[in-house]
Amino acid sequence: MDTMDFELTEEQRMYQRALRDFCEAELKPYAAEVDESGELRWEAINKMPQLGLTGLQVPEEYGGADLDTISLAIAMEELGRACGSTALSLAAHNGLCCGPIVRWGTDAQKERYLPQLTSGKVLGSLALTEPGAGSDLANSVQTSAVKEGDSWIIDGAKAWITNPKYAPVIITLVRTDKQAGTKGFSMLLVEPEHVEGLEIHHPEKKMGLKGSPTQMLSYDEVRVPLDALLGEEGQGFYQTMQTLDGGRISIGALSVGLAQAAFEAGVQYAKQRRTFGKPIADHQAIQWMIADAATEIDAARLMVYRAAWLRDHEKPFSKQAAMAKLMASEVAERVARNAIQIHGGYGYSREFPVERIYRDTRLMTIGEGTSEILRLVIARRTLEAFD
Ligand SMILES: Cc1cc2nc3c(=O)[nH]c(=O)nc-3n(C[C@H](O)[C@H](O)[C@H](O)COP(=O)(O)OP(=O)(O)OC[C@H]3O[C@@H](n4cnc5c(N)ncnc54)[C@H](O)[C@@H]3O)c2cc1C
Repeated sequence: MDTMDFELTEEQRMYQRALRDFCEAELKPYAAEVDESGELRWEAINKMPQLGLTGLQVPEEYGGADLDTISLAIAMEELGRACGSTALSLAAHNGLCCGPIVRWGTDAQKERYLPQLTSGKVLGSLALTEPGAGSDLANSVQTSAVKEGDSWIIDGAKAWITNPKYAPVIITLVRTDKQAGTKGFSMLLVEPEHVEGLEIHHPEKKMGLKGSPTQMLSYDEVRVPLDALLGEEGQGFYQTMQTLDGGRISIGALSVGLAQAAFEAGVQYAKQRRTFGKPIADHQAIQWMIADAATEIDAARLMVYRAAWLRDHEKPFSKQAAMAKLMASEVAERVARNAIQIHGGYGYSREFPVERIYRDTRLMTIGEGTSEILRLVIARRTLEAFD
C-alpha cells in the first residue's frame, strides 16, 4: 500500500510554482502598501480566478478550480507568505463563504451565488461572532430569525466579520428556535444589496491584517425570503462546527506562510548583517533561532498537510485540523518574533517586513478557534480515546 507519501504530486508542485510566481509579482511587493492603506489590491484579486484562488474548492461548472485540500493548503501558504491581509480575506471567502454554499446550497443557491463569488470581483463573508459571543456561540448567540409569512425576519448584531463590505452574500448564523439549544440554529443567506435594515459598520482599526476589512453588522428587522435558508433549519450550529474544522486547515496553512516569510527574511538578514567581524548567521545564538524555526515550520506544514490529506480521504480530521492550526499559529508567532530579534533594531522598524508579519501572526491564535478553545477540543478528543 502506498499511502505514506510525503511528496506533493507533480500537479500540486506545478500549482505551487504558478502560485509562487503570481504572489511574488502581484502581492508581495504591495503587502506593505496594503497594510498602510487598509485596502486590498483588487488589481491582483481580479486576476485570481485564473489560478482558481477565488473558488479553490468550488466545482468547475460554477467557475471554481475544484481542488483537493492539499492544494488549498498550498494556496493559503503561498498567499500567507506574500500578504497576510489578502490571505485572510481569501481564506474567509473560500472556506467560510464558498465552502458552506458548495456543501449545503440548493442548485438554485449555487447558481445564484457561486459564479459571482468566483469572479474575482467580490469576496464572500460568514457572520458567526457577535459582540457578546465568540468562543461560546452555543450559549451566547443572540441574533435571531423568526418566520413571518414568506420571510425570515432577522434581528441582532455580528462583530469582527471579515469581508462584508465586499460581499454579495453574508452567510449569517441565527437562532431560529430559542428553546432547542444547539438544534435551534440556522444559517441564512443575506444579500446586503437587496435587503433593508442591515448596517455594515466601518472597518475596525486593527493591530495587523489591516487590508482585510473586519466589520460589525447590525440587523434591524432584516427581511429575507424563506428560501434564503442554507441547508436544513436547526442545523446551523453543526454546519458552523464543520465549517470551522475546514477553516482551521486554511488558517494553519496561512500561518505556515507567514512563518515562512518571516523565516526567509530573518535568514537573509542574518547572512548579510555583520557583528564582531562576521555575519550574525555565524553566531550560534542566531543559528539556534534559525534551526528552531526551520524545524517548527516543517512540523507545522506536515501537520497541516496531514489534516488536509485526511479531509481529502474522507477520514475524521477535526482533531488533526485543530492540532495543525494550534501548532502552526503558535509557530508563526514565535518565528516572526525571532525574525524581529535577528533584525535587532531594524526589526522594530516598518521599513522591514518582519514587523508587519509579526502583527499579522497575532490573529492566527485567535480567529477560527482560539488556542485555548483548540486545546479544549484536542483534550476532549484525546481523553475520549482513553474511555
Ligand atoms: C481580524 C479578525 C477577523 C475575524 N473574522 C471573523 C469572521 O469572518 N467571521 C466570524 O464569525 N468571526 C470572525 N472573527 C471573530 C473571531 O472568530 C473571534 O474573535 C474568536 O472566535 C474569539 O471570540 P471572542 O473574540 O469573542 O473571544 P472570547 O470568546 O470572549 O474569548 C476571550 C478569551 O477567553 C478565552 N476563553 C474563552 N472560553 C474559554 C474556555 N472555555 N476555556 C479557556 N479559555 C477560554 C479565549 O481563548 C480568549 O483567550 C474575527 C476576528 C478577528 C480579530
